Amino acid sequence: METKKMFIDGKWVDAGIGETRSIINPFNQEEIAVAAEGNESDAKAAISAARQAFDNGDWPNTPAAARAAFVRKIAELIERDKEELAELESLDTGKTVEESRGDMDDIAGVFRYYADIGDKDGGEIIDSPIPDAVSKVVHEPVGVCGQITPWNYPLLQASWKLAPALVTGNTLVMKPSEITPLTTVKVFELIEEAGVPAGVANLVLGAGNTVGAELSTNIEVDLISFTGGIETGKKIMQAASINVKKLALELGGKNPNVVFADADFETAVDQAMNAVFFHAGQICSAGTRLIIEESIHDKFVEALVERVQNIKIGSGFDDDTQMGPLISAEHLAKVEKYVEAGKKEGAKVVVGGKQPEDPALQNGFFYLPTIFTNCTTDMSIVQDEAFGPIITVETFTTEEEAVKLANDSIYGLAGGVWTNDIVKAERCVAKMRMGTVWINEFNLYFPHAPWGGFKQSGIGRELGKLGLEEYTETKHIFHNLKPEPVNWFGE
Ligand code: NAD
Repeated sequence: METKKMFIDGKWVDAGIGETRSIINPFNQEEIAVAAEGNESDAKAAISAARQAFDNGDWPNTPAAARAAFVRKIAELIERDKEELAELESLDTGKTVEESRGDMDDIAGVFRYYADIGDKDGGEIIDSPIPDAVSKVVHEPVGVCGQITPWNYPLLQASWKLAPALVTGNTLVMKPSEITPLTTVKVFELIEEAGVPAGVANLVLGAGNTVGAELSTNIEVDLISFTGGIETGKKIMQAASINVKKLALELGGKNPNVVFADADFETAVDQAMNAVFFHAGQICSAGTRLIIEESIHDKFVEALVERVQNIKIGSGFDDDTQMGPLISAEHLAKVEKYVEAGKKEGAKVVVGGKQPEDPALQNGFFYLPTIFTNCTTDMSIVQDEAFGPIITVETFTTEEEAVKLANDSIYGLAGGVWTNDIVKAERCVAKMRMGTVWINEFNLYFPHAPWGGFKQSGIGRELGKLGLEEYTETKHIFHNLKPEPVNWFGE
């Protein structure tokens, strides 16, 4: 099996000390690829290439329209290779191919969006406090960017970082999750094919505590953009303080989905399932905390249980599969641990709560879609991000109580409200402390809407214009056209 290589300074290379890692299919634990396993030295080589390309190369001063043309070309190549990329993503993550095809459309859309807006910022002339002067504000690239991505949406998360960094003239070193590097490797082939100059975009494969830690601590890196778990985010924040790197952190979520009795019942049930069981709950914005008005609790849970039992679990490559496996044995063990803790704390499993018994699924990391009732807000199953196919159900009787429950979390990534009372809906979302709130919707995101978290869900925003601004420094240039002595200190 040919080893997947790293891309450093325009060349495909093995790890310096020749180490490799097996990439495993979570559906059956078979080896699907072997990838180079880089370490701190490989990361240093990539950082040095990116530094050189930024300090001495043409990329930062290339006209934005020309950089945008490269980014648009990458979008076209992703569209051309969509099927191959989608299948690779499903092999690596276990998600359904249909879902991966949707991801690839979204990813091409992200590159297109940033190609479209990347050359529109001409800076700004601001008023000068003295006559005969020009005062202007311009945006410049930050420099060398370290970009670290997670395993749940490997290429989607990479696209949110690559496209805005490139179009604004930065150079970068990306480190994908060591579990799911395959589509990112493929997209770096497309970046090369698009003709992006050597050293501008570099790829290092390997573990978080080696390659990731080097990116976070290396003083040649000016910005770290990280998507992943809250504990890793805290470590990166600390490491990045070494040279006061710019930080963009997209961390976890434990997202409330509030359903009022006056909501459209069937739609709310349907979307409550979509909000969580898509990609087996391994979504940062999954609506795992279902908060239902007490008067409809029994009917709602009954309807959910009936539908959850029919979710078709299996290989992402089978047309009728609706939910694939979890990503790894470690992650399955973590999900099981949370379920056991939930039971001990007094929550009641009404469906799921274990691995499937189907003999065809025994080699994969499968877990049944699970619903817990009798939940209270202090339980770990309600508070912690289990990142699996688990819904916890809490109830409320007043609007104030619903909002209080929704906000009772260290996270603040996203949340939804279901009601046909538009005034009530607006009142609720105005008080919900989250980066994205949906009314009669859940999980919808798109390239021109900013994405990110309040509270411990992160710092900064990706997507939208704000996602572009993360990759720029603002400079004020003041030009006195008629300089004269000030004479403060006499002649
Ligand atoms: P993780 O934090 O374990 O790993 C994420 C990345 O960080 C990986 O590439 C990993 O190798 C690297 N890493 C690990 N330790 C490191 C260290 N000490 N220094 C530098 N890098 C290090 O997260 P995960 O399990 O891969 O992903 C799941 C998490 O990602 C969940 O918490 C989920 O909510 C979050 N997520 C958030 C968003 C968002 O938009 N907010 C999107 C997707 C995923």
